[in-house]
Amino acid sequence: MYRYETHCHTSETSKCGITGAADFVRFFKNKGYDGVFITDHFFRANIVDIPENYSWEQKVDVLLRGYEVAREEGAKVGLDVFLGWEFGYESLHLLTYGLDREWLLDNPDLISLDYIHYCDRVHESGGFIVNAHPFRQVKGVVRLMPYNSDAAEIINGANADNKRSAAYAEMMGLPVTAGSDIHNKNTKANLAGVLSETKFGSVYDYIDAVKNRKVTLFEFPNTADQIQNERIVTP
Ligand SMILES: [Zn+2]
Ligand SMILES: [Zn+2]
Repeated sequence: MYRYETHCHTSETSKCGITGAADFVRFFKNKGYDGVFITDHFFRANIVDIPENYSWEQKVDVLLRGYEVAREEGAKVGLDVFLGWEFGYESLHLLTYGLDREWLLDNPDLISLDYIHYCDRVHESGGFIVNAHPFRQVKGVVRLMPYNSDAAEIINGANADNKRSAAYAEMMGLPVTAGSDIHNKNTKANLAGVLSETKFGSVYDYIDAVKNRKVTLFEFPNTADQIQNERIVTP
């Protein structure tokens, strides 16, 4: 089986990121992973500060900085690196896959779209939305978007309320996925992600695998170099 991290924040782009992109690539390579999706925080979420006077293209470069560094390191060490990002509005977090730099450059009004128009734009363009850690609260409020998400993240390494997330996905008939939501390679939280019988040649292979419920989910404690005490969930 091929092993993937689907939810990773880098210190280059995410304000809350502790570990740099190249370091993460080596971390996952050493653990025997085949690939990682870099999903830094989107504009108006927890992205690093961007100077007001930056052009749209310069802003996009900031968003993709962590991904670009990861991709370079991935090419050196032999780990596939894929692009995503995480749109955030209060407790609503939407992992977005299947779109690229060109698309970002072509949509300069993205920075001002509210969540529903953001979802519409992503879907019009063939993108895929995962409702991340659905039951994480902000100020006591959870925000679910089942009708505008294509899947739900039912194992989030950093979040303890995964049981409710699984019940939510089942109730709404949403395909499921898993990710660590890792910001620090030395995290005490679990690592989580997906296993696939086929290698992902592109981000679309991941999207298809989730849609068609072909991914197996995993979770294990980040305690040793070797993977131990792994919990496997076959949806
Ligand atoms: Zn999040
Ligand atoms: Zn995240």
